[in-house]
Amino acid sequence: MLDIKDLNVYYSGIHALKGINLKVKENSIVSLIGANGAGKSTTLKAIMNMTKYNGNIDFSGKKLSSMKTKDIVKEGFTLVPEGRRVFSNLTVYENLLLGAYSRKDKEIQKDINSIYEIFPRLKERKEQKGGTMSGGEQQMLAIGRALMSRPKLLMMDEPSLGLAPLIVKDIFNIIKDIHSEGVTILLIEQNAKAALEIADYGYVLETGNIVLEGEGKALLHDERVKSAYLGEE
Ligand code: ATP
Repeated sequence: MLDIKDLNVYYSGIHALKGINLKVKENSIVSLIGANGAGKSTTLKAIMNMTKYNGNIDFSGKKLSSMKTKDIVKEGFTLVPEGRRVFSNLTVYENLLLGAYSRKDKEIQKDINSIYEIFPRLKERKEQKGGTMSGGEQQMLAIGRALMSRPKLLMMDEPSLGLAPLIVKDIFNIIKDIHSEGVTILLIEQNAKAALEIADYGYVLETGNIVLEGEGKALLHDERVKSAYLGEE
């Protein structure tokens, strides 16, 4: 579905991605893990054509480098950015509605109801302003809003960042549920354990290079991943 070949990104002198190759198969969960500054967010920016790059990014045979970000969005790519960024002064309901801004069909209300089923907390708080929700609730809202665009590929930038362990567990269970509804997911995470546990396939990024890849479960048991990312000896 998504095929990244020899992706290079330079930021005024910094070689942030050094020729990475990465594939996301339809209906899979792929996790890209790595430490701060490894180049994870840069990978997502390149996919959305929000930064200049060399190399090829294809989506079901289409070349994304020649498309504008808004047209890539129309192809069905949705990004849940790091730090959530919900609209603080809009209610939960209005935030969800905005996620569907590019849709013209009549099923928007039905989809809001299914988001409320996935996240009962959002239903409970539908009239509350986004900015007054807790960190975990804002993450739920950011994911819910992204789902309102009915994405083919949902990309998430560190959904667990700054959340308490129990909430992280909830969020990852929800990501699994969303995946089982048929959404393909590319997950960027520093929380290697949670991300690899749910991944069909995983990649480990270190200072701009993919140093390891394999099935999620296999990577979880890899000695190098264990010592560098899971804090195990
Ligand atoms: P984190 O987990 O901390 O968000 P990351 O793996 O997502 O890290 P990136 O944000 O992709 O890392 O950054 C990769 C490298 O590129 C870093 O060294 C960063 O300082 C650098 N970088 C990112 N954006 C820019 C920019 N606009 N200009 C210059 N350098 C940048």
